[in-house]
Amino acid sequence: LNNISRFSFCATKINVEQLKKQDVEQMAFKTETKKLLDIVAKSLYTDKEVFLRELLSNASDAIEKQRFLNSQKDNNDDDDFKIQVECNTNKRQIIISDNGVGFTRDQLINDLGTIARSGSQQFVKEVGKGSADNIIGQFGVGFYSSFIVGDSVQVISKSEKESQAHMWQSDGNGEFEISTVGDCGFKRGTRIIIHLRPECQEFSKAEDVKKIIQKYSNFINFPISVNGERF
Ligand code: ADP
Ligand code: MG
Repeated sequence: LNNISRFSFCATKINVEQLKKQDVEQMAFKTETKKLLDIVAKSLYTDKEVFLRELLSNASDAIEKQRFLNSQKDNNDDDDFKIQVECNTNKRQIIISDNGVGFTRDQLINDLGTIARSGSQQFVKEVGKGSADNIIGQFGVGFYSSFIVGDSVQVISKSEKESQAHMWQSDGNGEFEISTVGDCGFKRGTRIIIHLRPECQEFSKAEDVKKIIQKYSNFINFPISVNGERF
């Protein structure tokens, strides 16, 4: 246990409710995405924790991309790459943040509004044949797996390509909202806030979440913390 130390990150203490939204747009998910979300949200899938595996792997991919971009720069920023998980039992939330490459406004719309992944298309086809429950884990539904445990999800992100941060939010019911939030409290990266379903509140408990992350952290090359405690 001596490798557990306190993380000295400058915690992204932003209050989402206080973010000023501008240029708000309501958009509809593509038909295939809507189908996938309906299946995911309504499934009684037992292995709910896979959403953490998916979000940690996305965070790690995003940091890997930024690390590559940094290596191409003349002034190589010495970034302190990390993934932060925050569990808030009172608010029944789990928040996953990374300081990776982030999303531009268009990337939020395209990457999280359509179903570009061939694996997901296959998933929707397979589900037509039977129950979703035994194949969610098999295919991995990527970001959308956050709706296995969440009844609404917010993604706040800042890319180096744009001066402002943006927010994507959805309750998974056919539509999502995109807005510009200006100063989000961090200079680059992504913060995913999952508002947990009542029956999934275990994921707002740090002790439970730490045990799950332990299973997946071997595959992640960057430090992960849960409520400030590093793995
Ligand atoms: P996959 O990881 O298989 O591409 P996902 O559904 O998990 O599919 O993610 C969709 C896309 O959204 C990713 O390909 C990536 O471009 C983008 N993305 C997801 N999470 C992040 C993140 N934390 N930071 C930046 N981009 C992300
Ligand atoms: Mg992924």
